[in-house]
Amino acid sequence: MKILFATSEAVPFAKTGGLGDVSGTLPRVLAQMGHEVTLILPKYCQINEKKFKLIKKEIELQVPVAQKMEEAEVYAVELAPRFNALLVRQDTYYHRDQLYGTTNGDFEDNAERFIFFSRSVLEVALALRLQPDIIHCNDWQTGLIPVYLKTLYRDPSSLGQSVSVFTIHNLAYQGLFWHYDMPMTNLGWELFIPEALEFYGKINFLKGGIVFADAVTTVSRKYMEEIQTEEFGCGLEGVFQDRRKDLYGILNGVDYGEWSPASDPFIKQKYGPSDLTGKRECKADLQREFRLPTKEDVPLIGSISRLAEQKGIDLIVANMEKMMDLGLQFVLLGTGEEKYHLQFQKFSEKYPQQVGVKIGFDNALAHKIEAGADMFIMPSRFEPCGLNQIYSLKYGTVPIVRATGGLDDTIQDFTPTNQGGNGFKFGDYSPSYLWETIKRALQVYRNQVAWEKLMLRGMSADFSWEQSARAYLKVYQETLAKKKNRNGKE
Ligand code: ADP
Repeated sequence: MKILFATSEAVPFAKTGGLGDVSGTLPRVLAQMGHEVTLILPKYCQINEKKFKLIKKEIELQVPVAQKMEEAEVYAVELAPRFNALLVRQDTYYHRDQLYGTTNGDFEDNAERFIFFSRSVLEVALALRLQPDIIHCNDWQTGLIPVYLKTLYRDPSSLGQSVSVFTIHNLAYQGLFWHYDMPMTNLGWELFIPEALEFYGKINFLKGGIVFADAVTTVSRKYMEEIQTEEFGCGLEGVFQDRRKDLYGILNGVDYGEWSPASDPFIKQKYGPSDLTGKRECKADLQREFRLPTKEDVPLIGSISRLAEQKGIDLIVANMEKMMDLGLQFVLLGTGEEKYHLQFQKFSEKYPQQVGVKIGFDNALAHKIEAGADMFIMPSRFEPCGLNQIYSLKYGTVPIVRATGGLDDTIQDFTPTNQGGNGFKFGDYSPSYLWETIKRALQVYRNQVAWEKLMLRGMSADFSWEQSARAYLKVYQETLAKKKNRNGKE
C-alpha cells in the first residue's frame, strides 16, 4: 500500500506534543511492515538541512492560496527503507521561533499557513506522482485535505483514486477562523454551511476533516465514545454521531526504542524489571537536578505536561499544600499558560526542599523524570490518549490518573483486594477525589513488596506500535474496499 502521511509535526524533526511522537513512529512502523510510506510536514526553520541530510527536490511547486500562487521548495530524506520524508519549505509561513504561536496566542495567519500546507501536500503528491492509496491526515492543520480530495482534486486524473483517513489527536484544537478567510481556501461558499465547514458562523478546519474524510479515527477507544457526547464533543458530537459507521478508536503505541529504561541514554543508570537498583540512582539524580534533598524513602511525584486546563493542573494546584504537609517531593516540567508558570514558581520558592519546577520544553529532563520519580501524576480533565502515563509504566513509575479517554483505557486501578491493576485512578474531576487517590497510592508505597509488584506489572505491559499499526492497516483496507464498492455501484 502507498501511504502519504500528512502532519504538522513529527519526531525527529519538530515536536510540541503527542502528535509529534505519533507522526514520528506510526509511519515508520507501517514501512517496516512492508508498505511504502511518505511523511510530509512543513520545513520549520528549526529543522536543519545539514543535520537531517535533506536534499532539495528539483521541482518548483506553485501552490494556490486565494488569488496568489505561493512558491515552495520541497526537501527530501530517506529515513528508512520504504520510509521517506518530504518537507515543504515556505519561509514566510514557517520561519518562526515557534510552530503554532507564541505565549500570547496563535499566529494570526494560521489559517493561511495551514491552507497552504494542506494544498501543498496535494500539489506535491501530484508533482512527484506519488499516487497514494491512502492520504492519512492529522488534526486541524490538515483538516482541509479531505475536503480538497472530494472537491478540487476529485478527478481520477488528479487524486480521485486516493482515500483519506483523518485522525483526531485532540478535539480541543479545531482550527476555527472567521468566515472572511473562506476565499483563501479556494473552496466555494456553498461549502460554508453547517453540513460542511461552517461552525456557528466560523470556518472549522477540523470539522472539514470529520465530514469529508473517508474514515475518521481517534487515539483511544474511550475517547472515541466520549467525543460523541455533549460533555466531550466540543460542539461536534452530532457530527461524530453522523459518522459513527466510519469512526474508529485506535490507541496510540509508544516507541520503546526511545522510551525504555533499559536503553535510555538520558538517564543516570539503566535498569529493567530484573534489577531495579538503577531506578534508585535515577531518583537521586533527579533530586540533585532539582536541588532537592537526596532521600530515598521520600515519595517523589513527577509531572511532565503542557500547562493547559485540559491537563487537570488546577487539581494539582489545589492539592499542593496538602501534599507538602505530608512531606512529599514534587517535580514538574512544563510550559503553557502563564498563570500556571507563576503558581508553580511560587510553590518552588515556598518549598525549596520539596518542590522542583522547570518551566520549558526539555526532552532529556522528561526522560529523567520518567526514570527518577516514584509516581507520575496526570489528572486530566480529558485526554484523547496520553503518552506519559504509558511511558511511566515502562519506567516503573506508577501513574495516578483520572479515568478519562486513553488514561482510562491504559490504566487499571490498584485495589488491595484484587492485587491487580497498574496504577491509581479516580473518576470525578474534583480536588478531593485526586487527594483520596494520592493518599491511596502513598499507603501502598509504604508497603515495599506490594509496591514493587505494582511497578513490575506496569513494566511488563506492552504498548508497542505493531498492534496499533495493524489496526490502522485494517482501517485503510476497509476504507479502500468501501470506496471500490461505491465506485462499482456508480
Ligand atoms: P499532549 O499531546 O496533549 O501534550 P501527550 O501525553 O499525548 O500529551 O504527549 C506529550 C508528549 O510531549 C510526551 O512525549 C511528553 O513527554 C512531551 N512533553 C510535554 N511537555 C513537555 C516538556 N515541557 N518538555 C519535554 N517534553 C514534553
